[in-house]
Amino acid sequence: MALTGRQRPPSEHAFSPHDAVLRTAAPHVARRRFLTVTAAAAMLAFSTNRPARGVTAAPELDAARITNDPFTLGVASGDPLPDSVLIWTRLAPEPFAEDGGLGRQRVVVQWEVAMDEWFALVEHQGVATAHPEYAHSVHVDVKGMMPDSHYYYRFRVGTWISPVGRTRTAPAEGSAADSLRLAAVACQAYQDGYYTAHRHLAQEDVDVVFHLGDYLYEYPVDSAGGDRRYTDRKLPDVFNRETTTLADYRLRYALYKSDPDLQAAHARHPFVVTWDDHETENNYAGAIDEKGGPAEQFLVRRAAAYRAYWENQPLRAGQLPQGPDARLYRRLAWGSLAQFDILDTRQYRSDQAYNDRPHAPGPESDDPARTLTGAAQERWLLDGWRDSAALWHVMPQQVCFSQRKFDLTAPARVSMDAWDGYRASRNRLMAGAKAAGVDNWMVLTGDVHVGYAFDIKDDFDDPASRTVGTEFTCTSIASGGNGARKPTEWDTYMKANPHLKFFDGRRGYLRVALGRENAQADFRTVSAITTPGGTVSTAASFVTEVGSPGLKPA
Ligand code: FE
Ligand code: CA
Repeated sequence: MALTGRQRPPSEHAFSPHDAVLRTAAPHVARRRFLTVTAAAAMLAFSTNRPARGVTAAPELDAARITNDPFTLGVASGDPLPDSVLIWTRLAPEPFAEDGGLGRQRVVVQWEVAMDEWFALVEHQGVATAHPEYAHSVHVDVKGMMPDSHYYYRFRVGTWISPVGRTRTAPAEGSAADSLRLAAVACQAYQDGYYTAHRHLAQEDVDVVFHLGDYLYEYPVDSAGGDRRYTDRKLPDVFNRETTTLADYRLRYALYKSDPDLQAAHARHPFVVTWDDHETENNYAGAIDEKGGPAEQFLVRRAAAYRAYWENQPLRAGQLPQGPDARLYRRLAWGSLAQFDILDTRQYRSDQAYNDRPHAPGPESDDPARTLTGAAQERWLLDGWRDSAALWHVMPQQVCFSQRKFDLTAPARVSMDAWDGYRASRNRLMAGAKAAGVDNWMVLTGDVHVGYAFDIKDDFDDPASRTVGTEFTCTSIASGGNGARKPTEWDTYMKANPHLKFFDGRRGYLRVALGRENAQADFRTVSAITTPGGTVSTAASFVTEVGSPGLKPA
């Protein structure tokens, strides 16, 4: 087996079989013990890291037979709790092969979590299994961690050691955390350009990153990687078709996850992910596909897409799909500073009104029987607000929440795919937020491939009505190419929507600092993505005060 830079000599720190022999006396040393493959195999019988019941017992692959680096898709962590973080990797020595180069065998993987990046003080370690049934992904729900602390993690297969990831836990439940820095990202069409924004995000000092959907796109990617225009390599034909099967979606994640900038962002920060439409298919609604085909046919595709999503994201077992269904909406907290209600506005929504074309609201879109969240998620959200004592209520979700008129004529057309196309659903949330006394409400949005800052108005048609919260759309990482500072719609949208305070069409991400007195949001934009090496700068910053919602230039 060839040595690579990622392999370490056996004398170095905790991933050393000698530790097990030499240090067994003190408990703090015993914790550092490296589990030999034999011990690992014995522990497998008690492993709790299996992603699901009913997995067939595939034969175990001898790690010595893995002659190429299996950690080609990077590492990730997600959903930080005060005492737990989910750490992830997916083994693929041949990332663009359907089986990842591992055949139908399972692989034993060791993992370690330490307080220091040199792994001198390993706090947690164990063994997991990468099952072929789950595309050799590894999801470890690390428990018993210290609150409000940074950790480092890595995986090992045989002599192969993964890149090191950094992550952190949330502050203790209800504790008086006084600040949180977050980032929000969305929409990373691989073929539209480089992940320059992720490269810069990896350098940011943030506690957690929210990914608001369109993590991948189902559309074909040509051999040049679209606007990446590869001249030094050629992507295989397997990407040059729309994803429909489980194999297609798994391969597409492999393509995306092979990107070094995306890997850098994941390795540096824990992510909290939710999907929008393109992880499955453009503008689907519940069981209804884009073109309104048979539901039973689309649900087969949705099951494949949802499963591949789970396999490729740092998500806990609670989010593992059962067929075409997955519980992705969930709640996290940052002490008493913030509650995060992460929504899924795709899986349970009513079909778009008016054939999903821009249209003025009317009886079809305003039908109170229609929903964007589904009844159960709506109840969960409203109950969660009512029971919360958090200072900030942050709602990471997918599509524009605020009213967004497309033209100056009356009645103006709006998007039938966004909350504007589901006004009764939006009104129920607004009423629920009011009834629960949610007064520091921040909505984080993806989907639209531009940066917007909105005041959420009690009545969007009355600029004098009360501002009840703020909404930021985080533009896109890549989708839409380089973009322009002032898109062609800029004048119209700014005039038609007085509660819209900012509109920028360039690529980037949103950075938010939440505090006890206020929150500041910075729109970070990159100079270009169709060539590598673009620079990042802040296009605009806004502040919203606690107890007095509304955007002010920072
Ligand atoms: Fe998108
Ligand atoms: Ca979308």
